[in-house]
Amino acid sequence: MTADVIVLGAGIIGVSTAIHLARRGKSVVLVDRRDPGCETSYGNAGLIQREGVAPYGFPQEFRTLMRYALNNRVDAFYHARAMPRVAPFLLRYWWHSNVDRHTLITKAYAPLIEHSISEHADLIEAANASHLIRKDGWMEVFRSPAALDKELASARAKQSEYGLAFEALDKAALASREPHLSDDFAGGLIWRDPWSVLDPLALTQAYVALFEKLGGRFVHGDATTLTPVANGWKVTTEDGPVQGEEVVVALGPWSDTVTAPLGYRYLVGVKRGYHMHYGARDGAKLNNWLMDAERGYLLAPMNQGIRLTTGAEFALRDAPKTPVQLARAEAIARNVFPLGERLDAEPWMGARPCTPDMMPVIGKAPRHRGLWFAFGHAHHGLTLGPVTGRILAETMTGEKPVIDISAYRPERFRA
Ligand SMILES: Cc1cc2nc3c(=O)[nH]c(=O)nc-3n(C[C@H](O)[C@H](O)[C@H](O)COP(=O)(O)OP(=O)(O)OC[C@H]3O[C@@H](n4cnc5c(N)ncnc54)[C@H](O)[C@@H]3O)c2cc1C
Repeated sequence: MTADVIVLGAGIIGVSTAIHLARRGKSVVLVDRRDPGCETSYGNAGLIQREGVAPYGFPQEFRTLMRYALNNRVDAFYHARAMPRVAPFLLRYWWHSNVDRHTLITKAYAPLIEHSISEHADLIEAANASHLIRKDGWMEVFRSPAALDKELASARAKQSEYGLAFEALDKAALASREPHLSDDFAGGLIWRDPWSVLDPLALTQAYVALFEKLGGRFVHGDATTLTPVANGWKVTTEDGPVQGEEVVVALGPWSDTVTAPLGYRYLVGVKRGYHMHYGARDGAKLNNWLMDAERGYLLAPMNQGIRLTTGAEFALRDAPKTPVQLARAEAIARNVFPLGERLDAEPWMGARPCTPDMMPVIGKAPRHRGLWFAFGHAHHGLTLGPVTGRILAETMTGEKPVIDISAYRPERFRA
């Protein structure tokens, strides 16, 4: 089998890239060892975070760091034994998160986020997937008036700088929107621009169907068999060897399994996260995606049930699951909303693929012909899949990308 381009990884990033290449007339083979969309792109919180212009930084203040060091929080947890291997990434992440550097990174990152909804809208329409989407924003709720005021001030700043819309909710307004929520909260806010996905797996599957309609082909295969050959690249699949002139590495948290053997040893890390689905007791209904912001977990009323997702676990990617945060968050969430039984046999775990400067790696590999990278989307991979696919496909086909992609170029890291 031959193709113009082989795309490795059928998560939201690889699938979106494959669509945009196929739309530009390229013959594309999409390769994954599993069915499309079954890994990180399945288990996320389903938010297309149009408001997420500022990537999540690492805490800076000594007092906050000490609080995290105690390892008893809901929003973050770490494996102490993994720290010697994780520390170099964390140190670099901490360095980039300094206020001045974070401000510059936000300026470079915001254009990607600005195109998140419009690029999803394009694919959603082409894929007939609008039944999977809600367009009524998402909600952050706060227990203390001081924390609420701080977030409202930050929201006002984002409103004036990035034109983002939000609505402040006092206690009464929150109660009328979410009547089954406990009265622990002083209020909250709704971000108006973001969309939410009722079933992230089904969305990726709909995008794959669109890709196939455009003439693309999906096959099961092992990306680690990638080898350079005379006129490009070859990978072994269940349907035999596939040869392509160009190859895109979109393997999310596993991207290093292909880039490292080629000599690109990026200082990347993962923030692992968990989810569990629940029913609701006594006919209670959760109307919107809701983050208990001071505790650090999210409740998402999806098709599969109410999905509780957790914050960041710093551990080795392949270490066994330790759903400590899920247990802590569930105990709190049960007092906040009448959650019913657990609906899954065991917690789902995924790994957000993270770079130290919080921005994805998108562009041409520095030292190989026909090798392209699209990974490291951290907390916003679902949000950024379609825009990533578009700008990479535009770059690969010699078009001017819709936004300047130089901030995301691989060579910003020494590797
Ligand atoms: C708990 C949680 C909540 C999140 N919530 C949100 C959210 O609300 N909004 C948002 O925008 N983002 C969210 N994210 C982040 C988002 O899910 C990820 O950034 C995104 O899914 C990454 O997509 P990807 O395509 O890069 O990786 P993946 O979806 O992991 O795709 C990589 C693919 O590579 C394949 N692969 C790996 N190794 C091989 C191999 N050797 N051979 C062949 N194939 C291989 C895998 O099978 C997989 O299909 C969340 C993440 C987590 C963990």
